[in-house]
Formats: sequence, structure tokens, C-alpha cells
Amino acid sequence: MSTVIIIGAGIAGLAAGCYARMNGYEVRIYEKQAAPGGLCTAWQREGFVFDGCLSGVVGCVPGKEMSHLWRELGGLSGQFLPQPEIVSAYHSADGTQVFSFYRDLPRLEEEMERISPPDRAASREILAAVRSLMRFTDTIEAFDTGGFARRLRLATRLGAYMRFVRTWEKVTLAELGKRFRDPFLRRSFTHARGDSALSYLFSLARQAQGNVGRPPGGSAAFSQAIASRCRVLGGELHLGQSVESVIVEGGRAVGVRLADGSEENADEVISAADAHGTLYGMLAGRTLDRSLEYPYKRWPLAPALVQVSFGLRLDLSGQPPVQTWELKEPIPLGADCLSRLTLHHFTQDPSLAPSGRCVAVVRFASQIRPWRTLRQEGEASYRAAKEEIATRMTTFLEERLPGFRSAVEALDVATPLTWEQTTGCWNGAAGGWLPTTQNSSFSGAEAIPHKLPGLGAFWMTGQWLTPGGGVAAIAQDARRVIQRLCKEDNRLFRTSEEGERGK
Ligand SMILES: Cc1cc2nc3c(=O)[nH]c(=O)nc-3n(C[C@H](O)[C@H](O)[C@H](O)COP(=O)(O)OP(=O)(O)OC[C@H]3O[C@@H](n4cnc5c(N)ncnc54)[C@H](O)[C@@H]3O)c2cc1C
Repeated sequence: MSTVIIIGAGIAGLAAGCYARMNGYEVRIYEKQAAPGGLCTAWQREGFVFDGCLSGVVGCVPGKEMSHLWRELGGLSGQFLPQPEIVSAYHSADGTQVFSFYRDLPRLEEEMERISPPDRAASREILAAVRSLMRFTDTIEAFDTGGFARRLRLATRLGAYMRFVRTWEKVTLAELGKRFRDPFLRRSFTHARGDSALSYLFSLARQAQGNVGRPPGGSAAFSQAIASRCRVLGGELHLGQSVESVIVEGGRAVGVRLADGSEENADEVISAADAHGTLYGMLAGRTLDRSLEYPYKRWPLAPALVQVSFGLRLDLSGQPPVQTWELKEPIPLGADCLSRLTLHHFTQDPSLAPSGRCVAVVRFASQIRPWRTLRQEGEASYRAAKEEIATRMTTFLEERLPGFRSAVEALDVATPLTWEQTTGCWNGAAGGWLPTTQNSSFSGAEAIPHKLPGLGAFWMTGQWLTPGGGVAAIAQDARRVIQRLCKEDNRLFRTSEEGERGK
């Protein structure tokens, strides 16, 4: 039986492990952390579970786009938390305007017209594009899961989809925003992360289909479920084992060297760890050429983040789960200056907090370098900076949600260093590449190739190969890698669903 070694047990590594097992490969995953999940994780403080990742997973409606992944990987056990009518709310700095992001498109259209009647035509045009994408995403799912005959039947619709992509893929989010005359509508509608209008339209389409949901128990439970699926399928997970380097012999990757000096051999090696750490660290730059270095020189990184987590004795269930406030006065915080703040609450998941309580988090972009300096100055400086942030955020939220300060029972501040140290993500950029019109993966172009040239059996997968990804796109990426591996080995790619043992 061929052996596959996988570096990293984030969602990509776990998914690759599951699909490799379903196809008869012996699987050994080496993960440097003590628990699987990578970035898709949570931590406990005083009875509260502070979720560091998922607000929504694509693929929660059976038959809709990406849903086959979770049937195969078992990440959701078919259950999702009920989805809210209003996904998020955006407040103007002077407090006079609120834009409610309805999941339902007709209601969203009404809301856009309410904010700015003269922008009716622009709103309709954009929402028409979202409706087209809703039809296309169903086609993509049917294509991904269908056999040859079904794929052939879908080819025409897929052609229409590719034309749609070509129309939109070079449009930036800023250009999309310029279609609105009303500045508040422009800001509230397009403040999403990244620069690619198409990425954003996709997220609206999935939202409108109800195909984005939160798994009960949150990110850690989700990761654990996929790790269990991998073990049930017969995969070995070696936790707390860091890979130091990839062993290359005669121009072929033949195994890995672990931090304790031991060596493990395999027929195939897949890195599902941070791509920079893989290329520049584990492979010591041996495969680097201009095309591989290009993204590192040109593409913007998703911002590194600070997350302030609150365990609260407060009822936030009447509030939209995500709220963004523009700030009248920007908040200066070290090298960062915040012009708006976003609060997520997780009241819909009672498993994250003791009875009568809930968890809420504020996340904002923060440069990693000043945090490194603080760490060098000593633990006291680092801690003082975290405490200052916690105080500023509590004061800010008390002004918006009276009673907030006295409701705080547990508090935690994670910095860009937290993400860098735990998962090794490059420069603390926990979200990987920022999705832009330059790196959009819709056209199928590969920035970092899944199979590196000149290394024989060495593969890569994960968020650094799927800009703007999300866990569904990442799991899909891992699935494609195993599909390609099977093709090279003349094996028919097979999948099995949760509850089956694989074939
Ligand atoms: C704050 C935040 C919110 C997010 N929200 C969402 C959301 O709502 N919906 C969504 O779909 N996605 C979301 N994402 C994105 C998604 O969580 C990530 O893109 C995804 O989890 C990345 O998975 P990965 O396996 O590619 O990488 P990682 O999770 O980084 O996994 C890599 C693994 O490799 C391990 N590793 C690294 N180096 C080594 C080594 N030398 N030896 C052994 N192991 C090693 C790491 O410890 C890690 O476990 C969010 C991400 C963040 C940070």
C-alpha cells in the first residue's frame, strides 16, 4: 500500500487525510500542535469557549454547493444552527443610519432602496448578478459530484458560468461600490474583506441560498469531527510532532525529518502547513523560482488580527450576530488606527457558554511588528498592551450596549503573535492571501502549484493555494489533490460518506 505523509492537521491536512484513506493510501499526519484543527480552533476560559475562527461554513444545505464535502468528511453531522434573517448590521458614525444585511434578496433589495432610492438601478443590477451566481453554484455542485454523462450535460451551463466569471473577475470591490451614489450605502455594502467583487458576490449568493451556517459547538468541534472521521477511516494522527524538513533524495521527496531528529519515509508527501514555512523553511528554498516567489512579492496578505473575546452575563439574542460601527473618532492603538469596529456574538450556540451567558468577540486588523517589539521588551509590556486594548474595547462597547462592562465575566486577548506561534502562519496573516482581482482562483489558475516541480512526489494544499478560501474551498482543494494523485497512480478516485468505512 502506498504511504502518504501529510504535514499539518488543519482542515486541509485532515481533509487530504480522509480522501487519501478513502482511496486506499496509508496515511500519517504530523501536526505540531497538541490538537487538530490549525486555525479552525477555539480555547476555553472560565467556562466559556472563545471561538477563534468560524462564523459560517459554506455547504450546510444538502444538495447545494460544497455540501458533498461535509457528507464525506463528516464535519457537520448534517446539523447547523438556525440562520438569522439579518446576517449583520452596519452603523454610521453619527448613529443616524443602520444598514441591515438581510439574507433574503428581496428584503435586501428593499433595504438598499430604503437607504438610497436613487441607487435602485445599481442595487438591482448587483443583486441580479447574485441571483445568477445562485443558479451557477448549483451547477458547480452537480458538476463536482456527477459522473461523466452528467458533466457532459452540464457543460453548456458551465460555459455560461465561465463567461459570467470573465465579466466579473477583474472588477474590484471599490469599482462595485462606485456604482452607488449614496456614500453610506457604498460603505456599508462594500466594507467586506478583500478587493475582489466576484468573491464578494459569491459570498452574498451563498448567504442568500442559506448555504452558510455555523456548526454547533463551533470551530474546535468542527475540526474534531473531521479528525475523528480521519481516524475512523484508518488515518494516523501524530499530534505534537513538528516537521523540521522534507527529505529529498535524487530529486524526489521521500519523507520528512521531525523536530526530534527522527525520519519518516513515504511514497508521497503533502504539505498542508503554511506555504511560506514549507517553501522557505522545510524545503529550505530549494524549489524557489520567480513564479513561486511572485505571490510573496506582489500579493497582499490578509491582515493579521487581534481578537478580544468576552464571556458575558448578558442577553444579546435580540442583536444581529455581527455588527459593525463606524467610529466618529478613530481609535489609535499603537501602530494601528481603527476607523470601525465589528462585534460578533454567538448567543445562538448555547454550548459555548454557561447558562444565561454568551460569548462575543471583537476582531480588528493589527500589524504584527509592534507586537514582536513588545514581546522582545518583555512579558509585562506585551501584557500591558493587551490589557489596554481590552479596556478600550470594553469602554467602546459599553457606549453601544449599555450594561456591557458589568456583564463581563471572562476576557481574553489574542494577538497576531498568537496565530503565528500556534499555526506558523506567515507574519500572523491568519486569513492567508487577501482575495483580489489578481489572485482570484475562479479561473482555475494556480499561483502556487499543487505539485511542486523537481521534487517528484511532493504536493501542497491549504489556504495559501486558495486565496479568499474558507474551510469549504480548502477541503475541496485537498480533495482535488487526492484526485490528481489517484489519476497519476491510475486509481479511480472514490469517496465514501460519513457512516461508511470507505472503499
Ligand atoms: C479569525 C478567522 C476567522 C475565519 N472565519 C472563517 C469562516 O467563518 N468561514 C470559513 O470557511 N473560514 C474562515 N476562516 C478561514 C479558515 O479557518 C482557514 O482558512 C482554514 O482553517 C485554514 O486551514 P489550513 O488547513 O489551510 O491551514 P491551517 O489551519 O493553518 O493548518 C496548518 C496546520 O499545519 C500545522 N503546521 C504548521 N507547520 C507545521 C510543521 N512544521 N509541522 C507540523 N505541523 C505544522 C499548523 O499547526 C496547523 O495546524 C477564518 C480564519 C480566521 C483566522
